[in-house]
Amino acid sequence: MGATVNPAEIFGQNVFNDTVMKERLPKKIYQELKKTIENGAELSPVVAEVVANAMKDWAVEKGATHYSHWFQPMTGITAEKQDAFISAPRPDGKTILEFSGKELIKGEPDASSFPSGGLRATFEARGYTAWDCTSPAFIREDAAGATLCIPTAFCSYTGEALDKKTPLLRSMEALNTQALRILRLFGNTTSKKVTPSVGPEQEYFLVDREKYMKRKDLIFTGRTLFGAMPPKGQELEDHYFGAIRERVGSFMKDVNEELWKLGVSAKTQHNEVAPAQHELAPIYANANIAVDHNQLIMETLKKVAERHGMMCLLHEKPFEGVNGSGKHNNWSIVTDDGINLLDPGVTPHENVQFLLVLVCILKAVDRHADLLRESAADVGNDHRLGANEAPPAIVSVFLGEQLEDVLLQLISTGEATRSIQGGTLRTGVATLPDFVKDATDRNRTSPMAFTGNKFEFRMVGSQDSVAEPNVVMNAIVAEAFSEAADVLEQAADFDMAVHDLIKEYAAEHYRIVFNGNGYSQEWVEEAKRRGLPNIRSMVDAIPALVTDKAVKLYETFGIYTRSELESRAEISYEAYAKAINIEARTMIDMASKHIIPAVVRAVQKLAESMNAVSSACPEADVSVQRELLMETSAYLAETKRALSRLIQKTDQAAAVEEAEQRARTYHDLVVPEMDALRAPVDKLEMIVDKSMWPMPSYGDLIFEV
Ligand code: ADP
Ligand code: MG
Repeated sequence: MGATVNPAEIFGQNVFNDTVMKERLPKKIYQELKKTIENGAELSPVVAEVVANAMKDWAVEKGATHYSHWFQPMTGITAEKQDAFISAPRPDGKTILEFSGKELIKGEPDASSFPSGGLRATFEARGYTAWDCTSPAFIREDAAGATLCIPTAFCSYTGEALDKKTPLLRSMEALNTQALRILRLFGNTTSKKVTPSVGPEQEYFLVDREKYMKRKDLIFTGRTLFGAMPPKGQELEDHYFGAIRERVGSFMKDVNEELWKLGVSAKTQHNEVAPAQHELAPIYANANIAVDHNQLIMETLKKVAERHGMMCLLHEKPFEGVNGSGKHNNWSIVTDDGINLLDPGVTPHENVQFLLVLVCILKAVDRHADLLRESAADVGNDHRLGANEAPPAIVSVFLGEQLEDVLLQLISTGEATRSIQGGTLRTGVATLPDFVKDATDRNRTSPMAFTGNKFEFRMVGSQDSVAEPNVVMNAIVAEAFSEAADVLEQAADFDMAVHDLIKEYAAEHYRIVFNGNGYSQEWVEEAKRRGLPNIRSMVDAIPALVTDKAVKLYETFGIYTRSELESRAEISYEAYAKAINIEARTMIDMASKHIIPAVVRAVQKLAESMNAVSSACPEADVSVQRELLMETSAYLAETKRALSRLIQKTDQAAAVEEAEQRARTYHDLVVPEMDALRAPVDKLEMIVDKSMWPMPSYGDLIFEV
């Protein structure tokens, strides 16, 4: 057991943060850089040169030998190209350590191996990384040594976004502009900047590394493709729990320390519903940093797990029949002077502003439910959303009783002039009762829940980047703010106009509010009556990216161009087809090389046993062996038939040329055959002698970490 460290001492020690910049940069340069970070002013080459040099000195003192432009291509994980700090040898045969402003600002990785969805023609493979100075550089330490990582955006030669960060930054700008218009309407003249705050809660599983290495499905696909549920009740045995705690506890301690050094404020950790499942939540940060930090959290969880002889599974559904993992994206809008626009506040005046913000969000979510659903679509999440698990694939908003009541009053009473303490208040809206932060019970089944001063979007997949969901939230709310501001800025009587607008939006978009049980079949039917989309799979979700509605939204606010959206749709189809292809081929490999041969041996053993018993004692009852033999042989035959069909359908899908059609073929033809192959194999696992089964079972994996 290592000694306990003081988080305050190590926090941010590997980050080129404000303190370090202040210490190491000449005052003028520091001020120039701050201007760029805070207001987006252009950075001069001179400033870049000085900053690069200071960064290098700081990094080298911390043992870094390399730097890398760290970026987030469309793969959903991070990528980088490392360069050493050394310069060309000098005449005396020595080298000096160099890092220029140019190298800091711009990189040119070989972009041809990253998905571009046709944006970058093959003859123009160039892509550029550009320094994002709003997310601090950091030093990553691992077996390869220490590397200075510079967060960057990644775009094509012609400026199209090839990554997840660029659109996120664009969406934050749009939200800032439109939210400021709303604030000004309410007389706020002091706030200068509005930023989305994000706190993503990360769920994950831990399994023993040695057992993991015996399962090709985990190695190649991150999830189990076969596996029968262990008998119920094992999870209650204290024996297992005791063992888990020790190992997982020391893992968590290490994870926290690594993250604190990187300036990631890992705050809460706890065991989740499923055995071997855990959760880590950071303190919220501005959306751009939160997205970067979530990537660091995922990387750190994986890296540290291996150090402790375990593997961290970030897949949305590593085990069938056991709860899957997701990411809860907590989102709010905060000004530079500390006002949270989603805080209901205590005074009626603030309530009016809050109510307008709230109904704008309802409008945004209702209108673009399909985009939110798409932002949470990844291959693994198909096993959660719309399957038998939380949250449902239907987007709806949970407000809690109190807020729902406020909205209903608004909608039904129209020109409400309820009096408070004897006086009649003017706006009607302001006469509504003050409401305190929602104290009603939490609704765990809602995909989008208002939780006091933030919205919690619970659909996101556990291994997915949270960039996209936040791009969508920022963009759709910016649009709603913009439309509201267009009306209110022209109004002769602001109080009346804002009252009417709140009422109008509330009435029109109330259908998106649902406080009941989101898992129930009744909700599926009710949602259908309300006309809410129920998009059950990733391939059905992707088209939302390129509707006229989406293109108009994103082009209006300069977040994506039509061709960027088309490329993202293309990349998503590709990703889906590739992932299912790998899963199917892994199943084929496991079934033909491991499972079927093992079962053949088991059948042979049964037959031999029957023969041996009968010849030793002809009167002996061998009906059990016979029954087992019959049952096993029948499942074996079914397995072989299903395997042949899966091979055939996978080949058929792989041969489809066009990306969308190929993805659909995998979805419609291959996925059902995967299920059909799994069924008899899982039955066989339950009847075949455990010592003959070719891989660790669910029980081994989940309960014996
Ligand atoms: P829960 O009850 O859902 O666990 P917590 O208060 O623990 O709620 O917060 C969960 C996550 O939400 C944390 O990552 C936290 O930092 C984040 N969070 C809290 N307040 C906000 C906010 N105003 N905006 C964005 N995220 C927030
Ligand atoms: Mg939560």
